[in-house]
Amino acid sequence: MASNGVNNGQALDRPVVTRFAPSPTGFLHIGGARTALFSWLFARHHGGKALLRIEDTDRARSTQQAIDAILSGLEWLGLEWDEDPVFQSERGARHVEVAEALLANGHAYRCYATQAELEEMRSAQRAAKQPLRYDGRWRDRDPSHAPAGAPFVVRVKTSNEGETVIDDAVQGTVRVNNAEIDDYIILRSDGSPTYMLAAVVDDHDMGCTHIVRGDDHLNNAFRQLPIITAMNEIEGNWAVPVYAHIPLIHGADGAKLSKRHGALGIETYRDEMGIVPEALFNYLLRLGWGYGDEEVISRDKAIELFELSGIGQSPSRFDLAKLQNLNGIYLRDADDARLTELVSARMDGKPDTALLARAMPVLKVRAKDINELADAAAFLFAQRPLTLTEKAEKQLDNDARGRLAAVHEHLETETVWTIESLEASLKEKAEQLGLGFGKLAQPLRAALTGQTTSPGIFDVLVLLGRDESLARIAAQATVSAGS
Ligand code: GLU
Repeated sequence: MASNGVNNGQALDRPVVTRFAPSPTGFLHIGGARTALFSWLFARHHGGKALLRIEDTDRARSTQQAIDAILSGLEWLGLEWDEDPVFQSERGARHVEVAEALLANGHAYRCYATQAELEEMRSAQRAAKQPLRYDGRWRDRDPSHAPAGAPFVVRVKTSNEGETVIDDAVQGTVRVNNAEIDDYIILRSDGSPTYMLAAVVDDHDMGCTHIVRGDDHLNNAFRQLPIITAMNEIEGNWAVPVYAHIPLIHGADGAKLSKRHGALGIETYRDEMGIVPEALFNYLLRLGWGYGDEEVISRDKAIELFELSGIGQSPSRFDLAKLQNLNGIYLRDADDARLTELVSARMDGKPDTALLARAMPVLKVRAKDINELADAAAFLFAQRPLTLTEKAEKQLDNDARGRLAAVHEHLETETVWTIESLEASLKEKAEQLGLGFGKLAQPLRAALTGQTTSPGIFDVLVLLGRDESLARIAAQATVSAGS
């Protein structure tokens, strides 16, 4: 076998089947979510199947909490799967069956080397400055040499000659000398399958045509191929999938992404940072995949355009400010009733949702996330007397409070409380007083919202309504009356 595993992705004539295969040993972080997205999008683009496999064979480190977080995070992102998730831990018997087929056909063997022997082997390799690699000491031994009743592991017999070539859809052609691929363990001494075996058996049984995953698994592909080719010799129907190993995500400083860079569980983006899923979807898509200079790409457009060839070869950099920016863009387009629900869940007490919904069109244009939206909405529900921000307090000097008294007197005569009439009336008043309009609007904003930034002043007046507006103005105007 001089070379194996060559494929270019076009050769497969089966419908596309992809899988996302997270290990539930921690939260679903931004890198995992992006792998899931790319895998899902590729299937959707080709009208194929997107599958999910929970690789929960590490019983000590896998938790139900992590499984739940992965499932709910993926659902929130809008990545739905075409079949129920496969739980790898339930497939142990099948993994063992494949290991036994490999054993029976001479593609795997039992290794009785003890820990002490292996340690000695590694020390010798270290001393000789050789790569640390199992030396195949049980590979060609006659099974009759096996120590009776001693524990053993099962190792796959990999080729020592020639090279393996993978035509990776992202990394291009990658070659590895077969001598570098050791006879690794597929069944541990307790009979349990290793990841290397389980993943390849599951990929086959799930009919996966394309394996989209992080490039930290590229080495594994070279090790997994010998199992595929051996099983194909035995059963005749094990196809080599197309591999697409995507570069990892780095932080803005170029270092490997860590918590410090915002590599958090995706529920943190949802629950704490107030990001909407369509924005994260778009952001993750653009993180390593491009279509010209387009930054804002909807889900439907992404499905239409996504191809593995658009994935770059260098690590992409995670940029929180960019994500927040995109989030702001998506908030502007989001449905008001939906935003009202998201915002009210973040506010203290039970806000008047009808008022919140009416305010949403003017609030959402200035916010980058749901928290900002909730903060911006707070003035609507504030109790008198309003607590003023420091800046608002500064604006309400004696002069300004005097102007508020004049505005109050003027507005009290106003019966038509609409944006148009209030605008005409207040502008006329400013002119009458010989003041620029800002001289009225600034203290008015401070009195009505307690802040120096808010939606347009006429919107604010209309949202609060006549009575509440007049009361808020009076509350700030009267304080200054005698001082
Ligand atoms: N379970 C592996 C991980 O979470 C992925 C394995 C694979 O995609 O083949 O890194």
